Amino acid sequence: MTTLATLTRSLFADLGVPPDVLENGALVVRSPVDGSVIAQVATISAEGATDAIDTAAVAARAWRDVPAPGRGELVRLLGEELRASREQLGRLVSIEAGKSPSEGLGEVQEMIDICDFAVGLSRQLHGLTIATERPGHRMMETWHPLGVVGIISAFNFPVAVWAWNAALALVCGNAIVWKPSEKTPLTAIAAHAVLDRALVRFRQGGGAAPEGLSHLLIGDRSVGEVLVAHPKVPLVSATGSTSMGRIVGQKLAGRFARAILELGGNNAAIVSGAADLDLALRGVAFAAMGTAGQRCTTLRRLFVHTSVYDAFLTRLKSAYASVSVGNPLDGHLVGPLIDGGAFERMQAALDAARAEGGRVQGGERVTVDGCEGGYYVRPALVEMAAQRGPVLEETFAPILYVMAYDELDEAITLQNAVAQGLSSAIFTLDLREAETFVSHSGSDCGIANVNIGTSGAEIGGAFGGEKETGGGRESGSDSWRGYMRRATNTINYSTALPLAQGVSFDV
Ligand code: NAD
Repeated sequence: MTTLATLTRSLFADLGVPPDVLENGALVVRSPVDGSVIAQVATISAEGATDAIDTAAVAARAWRDVPAPGRGELVRLLGEELRASREQLGRLVSIEAGKSPSEGLGEVQEMIDICDFAVGLSRQLHGLTIATERPGHRMMETWHPLGVVGIISAFNFPVAVWAWNAALALVCGNAIVWKPSEKTPLTAIAAHAVLDRALVRFRQGGGAAPEGLSHLLIGDRSVGEVLVAHPKVPLVSATGSTSMGRIVGQKLAGRFARAILELGGNNAAIVSGAADLDLALRGVAFAAMGTAGQRCTTLRRLFVHTSVYDAFLTRLKSAYASVSVGNPLDGHLVGPLIDGGAFERMQAALDAARAEGGRVQGGERVTVDGCEGGYYVRPALVEMAAQRGPVLEETFAPILYVMAYDELDEAITLQNAVAQGLSSAIFTLDLREAETFVSHSGSDCGIANVNIGTSGAEIGGAFGGEKETGGGRESGSDSWRGYMRRATNTINYSTALPLAQGVSFDV
């Protein structure tokens, strides 16, 4: 029988990464699919991480001199290399993060999409020309590279989040230093090797990419701490839990560095009395159970109008009871939790919900043949009389808390009454309800959808959330501005020196 360790080795060989990196390191890597050890990789020391950042700072000074469309050529080649490695990298994501093959491939597709987006962007890093009050002057805004961009990523999107940051940071003229999750170092090693291949081709084509333009730091949070503390890193984009972001954000603020924080979500949907219930059922079920509830945008709270509550809940309960839980590599919709710790946190949340009077369906551990070491669970549906206790927190597991409501205002107030503000949705065919939901008095989240679930994102839009989700924005729209610094320039082409606000100063 082919073990996951053997499969991983052969995927590394196919990706052109020497498989010896999979052996003899201090960091033990397990696949959540069956709990087996698939590799033991080396970690970097604090001194090694510091040296890497110093090298990146030197590289950044050379890279910023390459015109932006030239930098875009490197990202175009990265997109090409990702297309060539899509199958293998996607499979590796599935093995290391426990996702279905289509989700693994989908993650790599996001990487390709952001490369395409960034290539176009490399010719559009534009500023404004602004009307000036002074005659014979011109005022404008220019955007410049920051230097070194640090990237800290979470286990659940082990490579897409890096690509979102890396593609933009590189076209914006920065060097990059990546600290991936210690739970998913293999996909990081493989993705970084894909970038190395793009760099080789870029240089062969005459591109001036300095050595040390991109670094990968394998290790635990202590390595992340080095990145956060280093004075030559003016921006850290950190994706992970709110508790991580609270520490990282404060440390960065302490040295006046910038942060892009992409933290936890406690996402909600409203199913109105005017909803298309068939569509709502599909939207809710996928958003709540997909990726075993381990997306930052997973649906965790559901408010259903009393007029459709019983009818909708009957259908939702049967969808929950019948969803296929099993080995994600065989295409089951609900794969494993990342590890035993996640399972325990899920059980603790369900116990707390029961103590609050919640009625729980599902949530138990499921034994999957051949994958006995994996933590598989039946997704849990929990009917609550009120929003309290564990409903107010993000538990990174497939638990959906369901509550009834009478008035839309009440549902919106409840939806907004949590600390997080990432993603939200309403299912309704009523135009007034839909428009209210996406207006200033509706959802307070960074993402507010109508007739689409909360999970997933499209590269063209800015991605991120408010409140304890951190306020950062990545990916599309004008998120690129977060990776550059803005300068306002005033140019006097007259012979006079008029001062602003009519101030006179004669010497
Ligand atoms: P985590 O916070 O445990 O770890 C995330 C990363 O931060 C890891 O690389 C970890 O080593 C590093 N880290 C932890 N403490 C650190 C510190 N003090 N200094 C520097 N680095 C530190 O998160 P996780 O369990 O890997 O991921 C799940 C969480 O991530 C969930 O809360 C989920 O909602 C969130 N998430 C958010 C988004 C988003 O875009 N908003 C996307 C994916 C995941």
